[in-house]
Parts: sequence; structure tokens; C-alpha cells
Amino acid sequence: MSSNQSFQEEEEMNNMSVDVVTSIIKCVNFAAIKHKTQTRKDQEKTPYINHPIGVAYILTEEAKVRDLDVILGAILHDTVEDTDTTFDEIESIFGPKVRRIVEEVTDDKTQSKEERKRLQIVHAPTSSPQAKLVKLADKLYNLRDLNRSTPVGWTNERVHNYFVWSKQVVDGLKGTNKEMENELYSLFKERNI
Ligand code: NDP
Ligand code: ZN
Repeated sequence: MSSNQSFQEEEEMNNMSVDVVTSIIKCVNFAAIKHKTQTRKDQEKTPYINHPIGVAYILTEEAKVRDLDVILGAILHDTVEDTDTTFDEIESIFGPKVRRIVEEVTDDKTQSKEERKRLQIVHAPTSSPQAKLVKLADKLYNLRDLNRSTPVGWTNERVHNYFVWSKQVVDGLKGTNKEMENELYSLFKERNI
């Protein structure tokens, strides 16, 4: 290979990395604006955006996911459920594949809370592999958050029930990612679930 060729290849690689960084920053900025007034349910009222960023971080750092659509889907995963964002808006900015992932991880808000919880258990096994990755990282983040700090107004029983329900969802996501599943099942084991 001539040095010219390798220089060109290196340039192409650099351009690819720039595109990836640009889309991730665009996506984080979009989610931060959408979630800007929201906080988590913990005692410290952590800014909500810490959650989607943390979910994406679990995927890149622990699960070693390198699929950009999955990473963008994770950053956007609660925008439609919890803000005025629409699926069409997501598709027009981030494309149809990211839209599909966000659709798959968004609860139907016309249903009751109980029904939404039941549907998460039902839909888990037939979700796409990309949506399963986001669901696993979302559950892992939320369960770690519950272990770190009990949300305002929650009893120990409510925390326990959340773990029990999460295990039912995670059981349907099994076989997707060893790293996250190992972490999740050790959290369930700690609580004898
Ligand atoms: P959840 O009980 O589903 O609240 C948990 C959700 O809040 C998480 O899935 C997460 O969603 C988000 N969240 C925000 N901050 C935190 C945090 N610090 N740690 C973990 N999760 C966080 O929601 P609701 O309050 O809407 O209650 C719904 C259900 O709870 C109903 O089915 C109701 O019957 C039941 N319930 C049970 C009780 C009990 O067991 N004793 C008492 C009262 C209600 P996300 O990833 O989307 O941010
Ligand atoms: Zn979430």
C-alpha cells in the first residue's frame, strides 16, 4: 500500500469519526433541550438528562455496543414518552431506524400504568435485538438508581415490586447481551428475586 493510499484511508476514517461524533452531539443536545425542565425521582432531583446519557454510557462502556442507531435510540428513548417529541420529528432528524427503536421502547400512554407494565413484559421477547439492548440498559440504569437512592415517597415494598416486575421484563430480553444480563441477574440475586 502506498503512503498516499494509507493517508487517504486515514482521512476517510477521520471523516467517519467526525460524522459519528456530530450525530451523537446533535442527539444529546436534542434530548437535553426536550428534557430540560425534568428531574429524576431521587431525593437529589437529579436532572432527567443524566438518565438517557447514562443509559447510552452503559451501552458503550459496559455492553460494548458500537451500533450508532442503538446509541442514538438510547439517548432519545424517553423523549416521546415524557416530552412533546413525536416519532415523525425523530425520523426527520435521526432517520427511520432510530425512530423504530424509540417506537419499540416507548410505552403507549393511552393505556393505564398497570397495563403498560404488563405490556412491557409481553412485548420484551418479540422486540428487535436493537430495542432489547436499549431496554436492558434502561432497566440496569433504573435498578442501580433505586439501589443508590430510594425515590421520594417510595416504600421498600414499592422498590421490591419494581425489581420483581423488572425481572419479568428482563427474562424476556435474555440472550441479547451477556455483560448487561450478568449485571442485572446479580442485582436480582442480591434481593433473592
Ligand atoms: P414507576 O413506578 O414505573 O416509576 C419508576 C419509573 O420512574 C422508572 O421506570 C423510571 O422510568 C422512572 N424514574 C425516575 N427516577 C427514577 C429513579 N430515581 N429510580 C428509578 N426509576 C426512576 O412509575 P409510576 O410512579 O408511574 O408508578 C406506576 C406503577 O407503580 C403503577 O403500576 C402503580 O400501581 C405502581 N405503584 C406501586 C406501589 C407499590 O408497589 N407499593 C405504590 C404506588 C404505585 P424512565 O426510565 O422512563 O425514566
Ligand atoms: Zn428510561
